Amino acid sequence: MKYYSLNNKQHKTTFQEAVILGLAPDSGLYFPEKIEPLPTSFFEEIDKLENSQIAFEAIKQFIGNEIPENNLKEIIYQTLSFDFPVVNVEKDIYALELFHGPTMAFKDVGARFMSKCLEFFNEDTSKKSTVLVATSGDTGGAVASGFYEAEKINVVILYPKGKISDFQERQLTTLGHNIKAISINGSFDDCQDIVKKAFVDSDLKHINLTSANSINIARWLPQMFYFFFTYKALKSKNKPIIIACPSGNFGNICAGVLAKKLGLPISHFVAATNLNDTVPRFMENGVYKPKSTIQTISNAMDVSNPSNFIRIRELYNDDLNEFQKEFSSYSYSDEETRKAMQFVYTNYNYMMDPHGAVAYLGLKDELQKQNGSIGVFLETAHPVKFEETVNETLGISIEFPENMKSILSKEKTMTLCDNYAEVKAFLMNKI
Ligand SMILES: *Cc1c(COP(=O)(O)O)cnc(C)c1O
Repeated sequence: MKYYSLNNKQHKTTFQEAVILGLAPDSGLYFPEKIEPLPTSFFEEIDKLENSQIAFEAIKQFIGNEIPENNLKEIIYQTLSFDFPVVNVEKDIYALELFHGPTMAFKDVGARFMSKCLEFFNEDTSKKSTVLVATSGDTGGAVASGFYEAEKINVVILYPKGKISDFQERQLTTLGHNIKAISINGSFDDCQDIVKKAFVDSDLKHINLTSANSINIARWLPQMFYFFFTYKALKSKNKPIIIACPSGNFGNICAGVLAKKLGLPISHFVAATNLNDTVPRFMENGVYKPKSTIQTISNAMDVSNPSNFIRIRELYNDDLNEFQKEFSSYSYSDEETRKAMQFVYTNYNYMMDPHGAVAYLGLKDELQKQNGSIGVFLETAHPVKFEETVNETLGISIEFPENMKSILSKEKTMTLCDNYAEVKAFLMNKI
């Protein structure tokens, strides 16, 4: 399968190179050259298939013969070694829980899949890769866990000192082995700027830098599995299905739209955002105009210029009318989000994290317009990951899951850096 750069359709490359480079040399995002719908028989029998079989059928065309079938099956099997329950919350409303993986965040699937693809491609070279990533919290933990002990891959994670939670910091700094954490005296944006400088620094060519954020196709594509699993669980209801995603960089929902292009019967998508409402405004007037980023309680979605939105526009041939027929986007304040968390907890005894709650709000608004449908909102993180907000909003004291407690007593190891020169010295000498 070939991928082209969204900045220049003539620039084409393989799956392997797109995974290794992350971003095209002209800074465009990679996009698959062809999208071939799956046979209707596949959807008719989907409820008889294992998750890993479904995932294999969904993704195989995007990899072609670059990974042999048996290796790809093994990669998928290892990636999906946990549950994806669809839980009934209230009448006609379900939560798809994506937090049963090792770091309790939905990014686990993409990080694990990417790590295993990269490992496969490195198998018969003497080359080592270095994954360099900046995190404001959740990405770093999923990447650290997903790449832990991967052969011939070093991982360097930059995070803003004192600006991520203690639990998140532990997820990055307690694994050791090939996972190295750098604590930056600065903000998340400073971390991101350092990463960008490193990528264009020719002195660092020899360490083969690659990124592991959602622009990488190996992180983006496997997210479509979630939508197939949802359909599998709800097919027997025989009703149109609306899916609402809490959206930040729009990678997750973009994978949903791709699944629909493959023939998955999802009737409508809702991209729910916090007050960072660039896309909701775009859906109304067709003008794409990011504002400065606003800090909210659903902070994994504090993004004003979502990197994957351009891929969604490509999927709809940038035709706003087509787009509006099956895609809506709504924005909610922190106050509305907290009220939704309280409402659902009080009335249905279901605990939502702030991100899931934003999606729940979007789903409710869309269901009002579409009688006779059922709806699913994606729960992208375990509520305990946003312990402070959840406790204060619901007036409870949430328990840490037993299997997560051990991390609280492990020792943190990180290197402190003040600027790019210090990070560069680390990359030159310690990798
Ligand atoms: C990353 C993240 C999101 C946003 O996902 P996108 O694919 O960037 O839209 C939502 N919720 C949580 C908990 C996240 O970590």
